[in-house]
Amino acid sequence: MESQKQYTPKFSFEFYPPKTPEAVGKLQSTQTELATMNPDFFSVTFGAGGSTRDMTYETVMDIRDKTGLEAAPHISCVGSQIDEIKAILHKYVETDIKRIVALRGDLPSGAAGYGPFRYANELVEYIRKETGDHFHIEVAAYPEFHPQARNPTADLENFKRKVDAGANSAITQYFYNPYAYFRFVDNCEKLGLDIPIVAGVMPIINCTQLVRFSDACGAEIPRWILKRLQEFGDDRVSIRQFGIDVTTELCEQLLTNNVPGLHFYTMNQSAASLAIWKNLGIDQRVKL
Ligand code: FAD
Repeated sequence: MESQKQYTPKFSFEFYPPKTPEAVGKLQSTQTELATMNPDFFSVTFGAGGSTRDMTYETVMDIRDKTGLEAAPHISCVGSQIDEIKAILHKYVETDIKRIVALRGDLPSGAAGYGPFRYANELVEYIRKETGDHFHIEVAAYPEFHPQARNPTADLENFKRKVDAGANSAITQYFYNPYAYFRFVDNCEKLGLDIPIVAGVMPIINCTQLVRFSDACGAEIPRWILKRLQEFGDDRVSIRQFGIDVTTELCEQLLTNNVPGLHFYTMNQSAASLAIWKNLGIDQRVKL
C-alpha cells in the first residue's frame, strides 16, 4: 500500500474565479485567511467562455500580488482554438507564472465541437512544444476513474499519456475512500509512472451540493457518510463538524501513507479547510 518514494508533502488550496463584485470581496477575505496557513500554492479554475477565463487570470494575479504566494492558473482545452490557448500561455509566461494545471475540461451544452484539442494529453504536449520547460504542469487523476472512461485500464492508459506528454505532477479528483487512491498510485507505479500524485480533498460543507458534484464527477460518497449526512438534515453545525472529522481522518490516513501532498477544493470558503489544517497541525509547519 505504501509508495516506495518518500515525499515532503505539499499543501495547496483551490478557488474558482468569482463572478460578482460581492464574490470578489468574499474571495479576497478567504485568500487572506488561507494565506496565513502558508500553503505551497493556490490554484484557480478555468471555465468555459470568455469573461470567466479572463477572471482566472485576474484572480491569479490578485492572489499573487496580495499574498506574495504562488498562484497557479488552470487551463482547459476542449472547444478552444490553438491561437486562444497560445495567447493565454504566453500571457502567463510574460507574467512569470510557473505552474499550470492542464485539463481537457467539459464541453458546455450546445457547444459547436471539440476543436483541435480533444484530450488533456494533447494540451500537455502543446504546452511543452510552445513553452518548453517553463511550466510545472499538473494534470488531473481519477482514483475512482473518470465517468467517461471506457474502463479503468483505458483511464490509466490515458493518465500515462498525460505523464508521457510532459506532466510533472497530478492532482486527483476528490474521494473519501483512501484505498481507491492507494490502489491507483500502486497501479501507476506498476506502469512506471513516478510523478507525485497529490490527493484532492473536498471538505464536506453541504450535503445536497456534495451529492450533485459527486454524481457529475464520478466520486463516490461512502454509504456510511451519506446516511449520516442525510440524517443531519438542515442541522448545518452537525454536518460541518462531522465533515471536518471525516475529512481530517482521511487526510491523516493519507499523510501516514506518504501522500505527496493534499490539494483542498475550498469552494471559496475558508472555515472548513482552516479547521482541517489545524487538526492536522499543518498550519504550524515550516515550508521547505
Ligand atoms: P482527459 O485526461 O482528457 O480525460 C477525459 C476522458 O477522456 C477520460 O474519461 C479519459 O479516460 C478519456 N480519454 C482520454 N484520452 C482518450 C482517448 N485517446 N480515447 C478515448 N478516451 C480518452 N474542469 C474545468 O473546466 N476547469 C477547471 O479548472 C478544472 N479543474 C480541475 C482540477 C482537477 C484537479 C480535476 C481533477 C478536475 C478539474 N476539472 C476542471 C474537471 C475536468 O476538466 C473534467 O474532469 C474533464 O471531464 C476531464 O478533464 P481531464 O483533463 O481529466 O481530461
